[in-house]
Amino acid sequence: MRQSMIFSPTLREVPADAEVKSHQLLLRAGFMRQNASGIYSFLPLGLKVLHNVEKIIREEMERAGAMELLMPALQPAELWEESGRWYSYGPELMRMKDRHERDFALGATHEEVITALVRDEVKSYKRLPLTLYQIQTKFRDEKRPRFGLLRGREFLMKDAYSFHASQESLDEVYDRLFQAYTNIFSRCGLNFRAVIADSGAMGGKDTHEFMVLSDIGEDTIAYSDTSSYAANIEMAPVVATYEKSTEVVQAARKVETPNQKSIADVSKFLQLDPTKCFKSMIFKVDDKFVMVLVRGDHEVNDIKVKNLYGASMVELASAEEVQKLMNCTVGSLGPIGAPADLEIIADHAVGAIVNGCCGANEEGYHYINVNIDIDYKVAQFADLRFIQEGDLSPDGQGVIKFAQGIEVGHVFKLGKRYSEAMGATYLDENGKTQSMIMGCYGIGVSRTVAAIAEQHNDEYGLKWPAAVAPFTVHVIPVNVKVDTQREKAEKIYEALLAEGYDVLLDDRQERAGVKFADADLFGFPIRITVGKKAEEGIVEVKVRQTNESQEMAIEELSTYIK
Ligand code: ATP
Ligand code: MG
Ligand code: MG
Ligand code: MG
Repeated sequence: MRQSMIFSPTLREVPADAEVKSHQLLLRAGFMRQNASGIYSFLPLGLKVLHNVEKIIREEMERAGAMELLMPALQPAELWEESGRWYSYGPELMRMKDRHERDFALGATHEEVITALVRDEVKSYKRLPLTLYQIQTKFRDEKRPRFGLLRGREFLMKDAYSFHASQESLDEVYDRLFQAYTNIFSRCGLNFRAVIADSGAMGGKDTHEFMVLSDIGEDTIAYSDTSSYAANIEMAPVVATYEKSTEVVQAARKVETPNQKSIADVSKFLQLDPTKCFKSMIFKVDDKFVMVLVRGDHEVNDIKVKNLYGASMVELASAEEVQKLMNCTVGSLGPIGAPADLEIIADHAVGAIVNGCCGANEEGYHYINVNIDIDYKVAQFADLRFIQEGDLSPDGQGVIKFAQGIEVGHVFKLGKRYSEAMGATYLDENGKTQSMIMGCYGIGVSRTVAAIAEQHNDEYGLKWPAAVAPFTVHVIPVNVKVDTQREKAEKIYEALLAEGYDVLLDDRQERAGVKFADADLFGFPIRITVGKKAEEGIVEVKVRQTNESQEMAIEELSTYIK
């Protein structure tokens, strides 16, 4: 491709509203443009990166035995009513009506559509397991779209769903996809970590998030400095406090006059810097549900609370109260995965976490129309606190450290949450009707592009890993008006194309400084500068990852690039 023909409007200035590197650089390098808050156009170079990431994903998904399909973004409300999420998903779900006043949603995720599809087509255990995936646009009306592609309202997701006749089969596919994710993010050149995204209480094996390590990550990861233990801090505290939950509940019962306090009051009371909010856990003891509100990463109703080493709790008389409090339907928590609906909670002797992945727990949802009884002393009494840096790792090996992460992938054992709600059954070997067991597996494809940009850049621009770079080689004749330079550059360009490389030739009549600045901004792995020494058959080769350059004879280029 010739640079005079591409559409990649570069900017010298840092766009004012772009806070993080990836957002700034993807705009500056002309890889994308914003259309509205959280909504972007991919320009040609950005689209090439996106396609490269998709290609890696497709290869690894198919290697893991998943088949691609494509489901509609526009989904009838009836499906969401069947699962119960029409009522529980909250304002993140983009809803609309057609001309006949029928309700629709723009897919935030596709559990409903796929469950209905498989329910209607698969009737026998002989057709299971089945793993299907798609790469498709998702819509979520995020409360705070930000950081460019990292948190968009329209974004590209790879979502996969698996259907099984046994737990063992789900475990096997889960492990296989876990490995596929590891391959995908490694091939994308990312420094990442798979972390437990569920409670230790539930075994911690049922859901993992893939976190790209980055200071701007919105999630905090607690990891052991010596073992492989790593957990999203939303979940990690539970590991530390689970054993205490009975005590917590007992303590909660000792509160005779519950104070009606707002989150703002609590943060003031505790003298906290109010920049983070609470998350919630629900424990079941005897016949009662107790909700414990703990530190989290999100903002709730514009009130933020941070570092609350303690918890507040509400004792709830019934599941209906939980339902009311969580503003959801019993048995229908959660978008991409409901880790614990209330029935599941009831199965566990002490408790389960309703957190992180749950729609009912999305930002702003805990506290709608609820008065929260708070008593910090209770938490103190029960010694409930969060895992902290320096704590012994929950696996007993090493010491806990914290890091920030960007969630690029999420794998989840759903169980029968959707199949039971929507009647996705099959006949087993004995002719008995059974509900299918499901798993779901998401990757933020557009978010991954931004995460790569976030990890691979310097003051001059982007530094794409070869596997995802829009072009591998950038050939730059310093002055196209000089015949030798132009002709040699053309020759190199043609030769590399013939060898199968993605090459961009900067054939523009621009000053050298402009060309170099654009080249650094674009960040292709290898730059070949054809300047004065071209007459002697010498060019300069620069490796963008290291910014090291060397002179080289033109004949050596092809062996070097290999
Ligand atoms: P987050 O915690 O960041 O809001 P999530 O847990 O809501 O993400 P999932 O429902 O697990 O997201 O969706 C699967 C994947 O889709 C996520 O792991 C993430 O990579 C991506 N994703 C989710 N929300 C967005 C968004 N608003 N913009 C871009 N990618 C997103
Ligand atoms: Mg998440
Ligand atoms: Mg989310
Ligand atoms: Mg998630």
